[in-house]
Amino acid sequence: MKAFIGLGSNLGDREAMIRMALDDLARLPSTRLVRASSLYDTEAVGDAEQPNFLNAVAQIDTELTARQLLWNLQLVEKRLGRVRAQRWGPRTIDLDLLIYGNLVVEEPDLRVPHPELARRSFVLVPLVELDPLLTHPVTGETLVSLLSSLKTRPPTKCGNRLWN
Ligand code: ATP
Ligand code: CA
Ligand code: CA
Repeated sequence: MKAFIGLGSNLGDREAMIRMALDDLARLPSTRLVRASSLYDTEAVGDAEQPNFLNAVAQIDTELTARQLLWNLQLVEKRLGRVRAQRWGPRTIDLDLLIYGNLVVEEPDLRVPHPELARRSFVLVPLVELDPLLTHPVTGETLVSLLSSLKTRPPTKCGNRLWN
């Protein structure tokens, strides 16, 4: 299945965290890391008092189910020392399952596609970089059109593609 993972870090060596998370994604069972976007520097949502995030998106090809993938993402977060403090608070690494094929899941602990996908330019911009033809699995709108209707400032690209 073709899936997209959002990566974010705003604590410590942010780029090193993203790179280590990508290495871990490349090693997941029954999974191939296809490519990863450039890095983007993003102002934190909500609480502007916390440091900027560095964000990227990875495209994988996986035989894991969406739920198996979520567990694996949480293991990688733990391994990279994420301490679960308040929601939306600073973190060394945050891995979100953004899109899993055309699958739609609406459960308390797993929502796919990611519910904030259409509202977050720091997710839409790297997704569009990876695949400009992507559409939203629920609404069918292209991500490009979702992006063009956002009023928030787009993230700043900083650095080259991390993988392929
Ligand atoms: P947001 O989800 O708005 O980006 P967040 O990433 O800060 O916020 P977390 O504290 O990392 O939120 O995660 C809270 C819970 O979200 C997790 O325990 C997880 O079970 C749940 N969750 C639901 N859908 C997803 C998804 N698609 N990817 C990752 N986690 C998810
Ligand atoms: Ca998140
Ligand atoms: Ca998360």
